[in-house]
Amino acid sequence: LSPIHVVGAGLAGSEAAWQIAEAGVPVVLHEMRPVRMTEAHLGQGCAELVCSNSFRSDDAETNAVGLLHAEMRRCGSIIMRCGDAHQVPAGGALAVDRVGFSDAVTAALEAHPLIEIRREEIAGLPPQDWDSVVVATGPLTSPALSEAIGTATDEDSLAFFDAIAPIVHKDSIDFSKAWYQSRYDKAGPGGTGADYINCPLDKDQYEAFVDALLSGEKTEFRDWEKDTPYFDGCLPIEVMAERGRETLRHGPMKPVGLTNPHDPDVKSYAIVQLRQDNALGTLYNMVGFQTKLKYGAQAAIFRTIPGLKNAEFARLGGLHRNTFLNSPKLLDGTLRLRAMPRLRFAGQITGVEGYVESAAIGLLAGRFAAAERRGLTIVPPPQTTALGALIAHITGGHLSEDGAQRSFQPMNVNFGLFPPIDVPKVPGKRLRGKEKTVARKRAMSARALADIDAWIGLREAAE
Ligand code: FAD
Repeated sequence: LSPIHVVGAGLAGSEAAWQIAEAGVPVVLHEMRPVRMTEAHLGQGCAELVCSNSFRSDDAETNAVGLLHAEMRRCGSIIMRCGDAHQVPAGGALAVDRVGFSDAVTAALEAHPLIEIRREEIAGLPPQDWDSVVVATGPLTSPALSEAIGTATDEDSLAFFDAIAPIVHKDSIDFSKAWYQSRYDKAGPGGTGADYINCPLDKDQYEAFVDALLSGEKTEFRDWEKDTPYFDGCLPIEVMAERGRETLRHGPMKPVGLTNPHDPDVKSYAIVQLRQDNALGTLYNMVGFQTKLKYGAQAAIFRTIPGLKNAEFARLGGLHRNTFLNSPKLLDGTLRLRAMPRLRFAGQITGVEGYVESAAIGLLAGRFAAAERRGLTIVPPPQTTALGALIAHITGGHLSEDGAQRSFQPMNVNFGLFPPIDVPKVPGKRLRGKEKTVARKRAMSARALADIDAWIGLREAAE
């Protein structure tokens, strides 16, 4: 078999190379460090963790990233194997000794008889005669490659500050305060006229909210981030508030075209709108609420909004430099670039967020590429699994049902990406609140683990 080329030996590229080699297909892994460094990496090891040393929760029963860990372990992940071997105490989280972890991944890849590592930058599109390539060059993809991908995909820019607004689990919103309505009841194509969730503020609540935004603790830009433009001229909410106390009321929080059915005679002073964020309708994003407030401050301030007192956030807001593709539009269901199917993408560049999610997409890209090379049918994992939910998020079509362009933003794995499930009944007991949420998560996890085993079995049967 001729080799598959993997570009980038980060979290995703290391995992992809390992999966390909374990499937019996030779790999050439191209890593530019130490010949050329990124702004954040410090060494030359594979799978270097550039910031925190945590893979987050390891609880596979009630936490989606813990479930992803479990599924990856079942798929023979090298990232999870080395992470487990170099664990440091961190409560319920899986945190690792970053040097020991990266050394172990590097040693495993170097020792594999089917993997060759070349230290070189791929400074443009990979050569034409590489017929199967996994590009896993991450959020800090070198500029020459990033520009070439931009040209090949007809996208103006791949690197920008992505403005991320917080995303809320719908079932944590209090509908005795909030209500569904589109502004002026406008029903766009496919819409109902009640597509948004609205949360009303009176004058005192609005003034207190603006004060909290102005005094809330913010994250600073790093030096190398300072020259990157804001995406779409999109401003953080606290920067808008600094421009004047009324700015938000005339911007994302404008109270026009909406009537509060809980209090129809009183005009709201300001209104926060949330828009459906996933096809399942389980997640809603806070429209125009991109922010650089620190996570703790965000959660505290946004929970002062009527209706969001008990909000559970699937993701908090943020602004940081990132390089990622508009994957739902550009990639097919097995992560190949539609316009150039010899190129497959993996890791953060596909629009997942975080070490574990990046490695997970590397795992899938590696398996897909190896199966393709061996002439086997490729079946992506079902959406009921964490691996399947993640890939469905990034490749699940770029148009919403009404034909409008879906706004695509990077995402951590979370239970809002999974299809809903009925909470199992407990005889003689009516589950409510937190107990019910935990029972639902447990049921989703059990379903996921059964389904991932079946998926692994399918692949083994195909061989
Ligand atoms: P990377 O791990 O970055 O790997 C990409 C690799 O490709 C690198 O080794 C790079 O040298 C190489 N490369 C780039 N261009 C080329 C080229 N042209 N030719 C050859 N090689 C190339 N995630 C978390 O979960 N927790 C955090 O605390 C966290 N903090 C972060 C802080 C910063 C500053 C940044 C930028 C990201 C952070 N992330 C964090 C996100 C994290 O980087 C990614 O989730 C993860 O590393 C992405 O994995 P990846 O394999 O896609 O990319």
